[in-house]
Amino acid sequence: MSILQILAPFDGWCGTLDEVPDPVFAGRMLGDGVAIDPTTGILVAPCAGEIVALPASAHAVSIRTAQGIDVLVHIGVDTVQLGGRGFDARVRPGASVRAGDELIRFDLDVVARGAKSLMTPILVTPMDGLRLQQRRAPGLVSSGEVLFEIAGVETRTTTTPPRAANAPKEEAAAGHTLIVTLRHGLHARPAALLAQRAKAFGAQASLSAHGRTANARSVVAIMALGVRQGDELSIQASGADAQQSVASLVAGIQEALRMESAAGQGAAPDSSRTASDSSKSASTIAPRSTPAAGVLGGVIAVPGIAVGRATRIERREIAVAEHGADSGRERAELEQARINVRMRLERVAATGGATRREIIAAHLEFLDDPQVNEAAHELIAAGKSAGFAWRTAIRRSISALQALEDSRLRERVDDLLDVESHVLLALAGEARPMNIPLPERAVLVADDLLPSELTALDRARLVAICLSGGGATSHVAILAAAMDIPMLVGLGSGIRDIADGATVIVDADAGTLQTAPAAPAIEQARAAVESRLMRRAKTLAEAQIECRALDGTRVEVFANLGNVTDAAVAVAHGAEGCGLLRTEFLFIDRETAPTEAEQLAAYQDIAVALGPRPMILRLMDVGGDKPLRYLPLPAEDNPALGLRGVRTALAHPDLMRTQLRAALRVRPAGNVRLLIPMITDAAEILAVRGVIDELEAEIGIADRVELGAMIETPAAALMASGLIREVDFLSIGSNDLTQYTLAMDRGHPELAGRTDALHPAVLKLVAAAAGAGAAAGKMVAVCGGVAADRLAVPLLLGLGVRELSVVPAAVPAIKRQIRSLRINDCRELALRCLDLASPGEVRAQAAEMLESLGDMQ
Ligand code: PEP
Ligand code: MG
Repeated sequence: MSILQILAPFDGWCGTLDEVPDPVFAGRMLGDGVAIDPTTGILVAPCAGEIVALPASAHAVSIRTAQGIDVLVHIGVDTVQLGGRGFDARVRPGASVRAGDELIRFDLDVVARGAKSLMTPILVTPMDGLRLQQRRAPGLVSSGEVLFEIAGVETRTTTTPPRAANAPKEEAAAGHTLIVTLRHGLHARPAALLAQRAKAFGAQASLSAHGRTANARSVVAIMALGVRQGDELSIQASGADAQQSVASLVAGIQEALRMESAAGQGAAPDSSRTASDSSKSASTIAPRSTPAAGVLGGVIAVPGIAVGRATRIERREIAVAEHGADSGRERAELEQARINVRMRLERVAATGGATRREIIAAHLEFLDDPQVNEAAHELIAAGKSAGFAWRTAIRRSISALQALEDSRLRERVDDLLDVESHVLLALAGEARPMNIPLPERAVLVADDLLPSELTALDRARLVAICLSGGGATSHVAILAAAMDIPMLVGLGSGIRDIADGATVIVDADAGTLQTAPAAPAIEQARAAVESRLMRRAKTLAEAQIECRALDGTRVEVFANLGNVTDAAVAVAHGAEGCGLLRTEFLFIDRETAPTEAEQLAAYQDIAVALGPRPMILRLMDVGGDKPLRYLPLPAEDNPALGLRGVRTALAHPDLMRTQLRAALRVRPAGNVRLLIPMITDAAEILAVRGVIDELEAEIGIADRVELGAMIETPAAALMASGLIREVDFLSIGSNDLTQYTLAMDRGHPELAGRTDALHPAVLKLVAAAAGAGAAAGKMVAVCGGVAADRLAVPLLLGLGVRELSVVPAAVPAIKRQIRSLRINDCRELALRCLDLASPGEVRAQAAEMLESLGDMQ
């Protein structure tokens, strides 16, 4: 076995990483090594290799050895804030250096005065299969003396092949630096998105900010970077597909931006909240007034009113022994426990809605996090038990998050604790109970609540949640919102004094908890709850009725779906069919393409949930910024204009044939219609139709399936009268149509206010498509976000659109609105608006019309 020695980069006092006053280093989140308090200001290379990172501030340097091992020397703590003051780089990134070569000079006095500490970590990042040995004992050390040895170098060599000496550097490494404009920085969701993308490539990718570097596959490490809006983020990758990896990570940040702006705008009046942090923030309102005696004030996490009995649930501490038996066995036990937890979480996800699935997806990321697992394995190798190692590894990540001045990231602590307890229970051969019994009308009172505890509670008996701590944007709050359970957080320790079983009033509209209400107050609150329930039941009941405008014109209100749970919600909310099944959910985030049988099963489940209602199944809209691990697509400078939608399908006919075969076999056949995304000309439709005809003949289907084209490009809208001859219907994807018409990225945060589908130019294209449909006597639908925009509804109807497909929860409100409109009035409004100069003027006109109908709630 070969061994690599790492030498002291300067004279000083050698200590351990525990002495570095930074949880990321002390927690070994970036890797393992030692720390030195320097007594000289000349930093020399601790080993031979290539300088792979040396920021302009010159406060840190990373060297990659010939074996592909990265060694980071970070001078002091928080020294990035010095902005290069006191530092002088003597080499450039990309230079090859020998051990002992001078790399950086720094002024000890200047740095010592400006830094939190001079304690300098010298780390191997990441540890992937490596071990450190012969660590130098604490004490004085001179530059060039051995600090530690790295063993297991061969293992690393096989997974990360060293770059061939004569290979061109561009082939093996890539990088990109950008300013993060995400409103909440790299919080949990963008971190998960990036980690997933990083895992799709063989390249070793890392993200650096604030002078720290994180393995791009580790959600925990990315979050611990503490990247906020406006921070500079550097993305680096090495390996054969480094460029694709970096391009995908950059696209990931853009995707996160798109999700952020989609969540923050255009939501229908009563659209359900998702697990998106930003969409949740609307309900995080502080209490309105200072509470009186017997009343506790809290922060509103989910609005609503409830009367019920204070109820507490028990949380059992799980004891773990520190020392393990045999490291091989402990490792195997940990792996088995993780497999069991994974299977269990996947089962729970399958029974819940989109929000629960998203949260469980985040927990699965934590379960597989390379940094957490690496740390646990190292502890096991050091003789600790699997349980102790897992708990310690998770707690280190928790400390790193708690050290950040970012409440959103601190709220992820509960998720880590949840994953910790799942694994510890699995190691003990137990599982979290799936059902926690509750008394009737229970108001849960607790200091905190984990997401898995909430999902295990008997929903039928739970009327409200009151926490002394907690965060309004935590996952448990998002889950409660999805389950429509009023919730207050931050009520303080006063809730500990409430007697078990006491009747309380939770007013999560006002942010108060009445701990000892008098009988009249209880009666009044009960009446308020009752009338609210009745109002809601009436809207829902009306939503079940077929939708017609005030003059009797039939307008179908469909729902956009992503899976079977959405379908059930859509039916409950009165959707008359599915106007857009985004089948991408089956294709992304997996190692191999879904088989025909798998696809058939998924589509059939949705068809069953929809009952007799039609299902418009969109062919996979992948490629571009939605890369597939199993589909080697070239990196694109401009994914929005590249291989995506029908272009990807035609470029990969096998994938398309499998999907079409599955779709054609869904029963009852007459309910399924197919929709082709990203059409630009009739030839694309004919190519897909040709394949469908072949498959129908092959399967023995006599009735041709109905086929539609999406109008998402200006080309398609302008050619609509030709396209409609080849299809049975058109469906306008206003999200893409707007971005391509206005040449504004639909996810661009600074353009969010201007990327408006009510721009007269977009309306003219909608008019062209709707006119083509009317002339041909064929249906024209809108399935983009604008269909759920109250101001847009009369305009779309006025232009001739007769089907709107919206998020399931928006169906009742959209139906209610359509019932109040006359098509002639809508037509007049639309004609007026086509000639206006801006979306602002269009909105003003639409608002005026709705106001005249008394419809601007
Ligand atoms: C659209 O572009 O409006 C659309 C419905 O498709 P997606 O949002 O899935 O791109
Ligand atoms: Mg689209």
